[in-house]
Amino acid sequence: MTETPQRPGQPGRHPFEAGLDRTPANHVPLTPASLLARAAAAVGARVGIIDGDRRITYADLYARCRRLASALAARGVRPLDTVAILAPNVPEMIEAHFAVPMLGAVLNPLNTRLDPATIAFSLAHGGARVLIVEAECAPLAAQAVAAFGQPILVVAIGETGLAGALPYESLLAEGDPDYAWVGPEDEWQSLCLLYTSGTTGDPKGAVYSHRGAYLQALGNAVTFGLTADSVYLWTLPMFHCSGWSYPWASVAACATQVCLRKVEPAAIFRLIAAHGVTHLCGAPIVLSMIAHAPDTDRTAFPQRVRCAVGGAAPSSTIIRTMEELGFQVTHLYGATESYGPATVCLAQPDWADLTDAERYGRMARQGVPLATLEAVSVVDPATDEPVPRDGTAVGEIRLRGNTVMKGYLGNPEATGRALAGGWYRTGDLAVWHPDGSVEIKDRAKDIIISGGENISSLEVEEVLMRHPAVMLAAVVARPDATWGESPCAFLEMKPGADAPTDRDVIAFCRARMARFKVPKTVVFGPLPKTSTGKIQKFVLREQARAL
Ligand code: ADP
Repeated sequence: MTETPQRPGQPGRHPFEAGLDRTPANHVPLTPASLLARAAAAVGARVGIIDGDRRITYADLYARCRRLASALAARGVRPLDTVAILAPNVPEMIEAHFAVPMLGAVLNPLNTRLDPATIAFSLAHGGARVLIVEAECAPLAAQAVAAFGQPILVVAIGETGLAGALPYESLLAEGDPDYAWVGPEDEWQSLCLLYTSGTTGDPKGAVYSHRGAYLQALGNAVTFGLTADSVYLWTLPMFHCSGWSYPWASVAACATQVCLRKVEPAAIFRLIAAHGVTHLCGAPIVLSMIAHAPDTDRTAFPQRVRCAVGGAAPSSTIIRTMEELGFQVTHLYGATESYGPATVCLAQPDWADLTDAERYGRMARQGVPLATLEAVSVVDPATDEPVPRDGTAVGEIRLRGNTVMKGYLGNPEATGRALAGGWYRTGDLAVWHPDGSVEIKDRAKDIIISGGENISSLEVEEVLMRHPAVMLAAVVARPDATWGESPCAFLEMKPGADAPTDRDVIAFCRARMARFKVPKTVVFGPLPKTSTGKIQKFVLREQARAL
């Protein structure tokens, strides 16, 4: 080893440290707001947003966001104040994702399908100063604001009929289109507050940082191949994990975003064809809706559309169906706590040798970390040691990196539990394959224990989904006098399909899985879903218990 070279006059400082300081020229706090400034400067005339007949160029989008930020500031909104928004996928939702961070305030997108009491809880817990409401959500907002009972500035997008509400466009008119926003002083500053669904107890508010959102935007843009020629269709609710960070990712790529208020197959096909859509995201249920749309809802389109699926486990059957329809599927896995997507199922070189069925099976794996996530591990919760990468040992998925939430707002206990030991504990049970990809077997709370054996509900669902008449399958535990629990299958059938009997379904499963995993009970009918298209297994568990 040579001695550390020293500079005269700067004893003790390594040449690579001396005179090489952070200055505003070479170090700027990361914030997704600057992605829009850059897009407006780079491609100002390009259409950034399409909403029905409306077209908003990047230059206009930036000016509108600066107006909104400056008008909110003039009305007393300060850094770290909370601005809540209750809106479907409209341009103003995208604007809020840039304008509020410009101010250094915190955006709190609210789930539009929640009940007024839960919305009021979020407003109170998050300390909202402003609530932006789109007309469609006005009745919900009126009740929530009444229950909240605190002074709050209500800003109305469209005709809400809310007493005392300030029209969004009037607020923008108060603002300065050239507002010299400064962004956060520190990139670790809080940027967004996202409440999880709260199926167990009060919702928890995951807090994102500017740094995390910026990195996640770039990670998503790269992972999903967004470019300036991309046209991104909003089939995912933007209130869910801030639309998996795609409002920012699309702008990072200078892509065009197409708004869609309601996820309906006819509208999806029409917009794909009309605007040359190249990318869309959705839960498996959205894919299933597209795949099983009646012919009258379909419009032909020439382009190959990339379709990212996540939020719940997609079966290999739905991946296959979508690919056969001409979509190119990207499988993403993540949680609100990880700013949406944390892993992606990357194609491996050896897939070339696989049969189609095997390849679709591989695509149903949750995969490897996004470039912007530090690491994924599968850990034995009893020992905290990683499980072997043998595709067999089951452990909990843990995530670490710059795109893991700061914590839950005002809930140090839950934050401590979630981030204990330097990893985010997902509560998802998975195996780790030799190629480094993870494959979820179940959420810890969904696993079925029958006669002491663990049964992965996803594995049983995967088989059920291969039945030609089945559109959706969910398997939950039913209390069983002999076995403790037994698998109970709930099936939603394809429209117009010849419905099998429960015996047929059981015989179908017997031929394809170990006997102890075969559902003992089969129930037919529509499945209860959340606003984000996840099947509500807790509802099914109650139904199974009551059977
Ligand atoms: P909630 O907990 O209310 O469902 P999230 O949207 O944060 O809210 O859900 C994250 C969870 O969704 C993950 O922990 C995992 O259980 C499930 N999930 C998300 N993506 C996938 C996927 N691709 N495959 C399997 N499960 C997934």
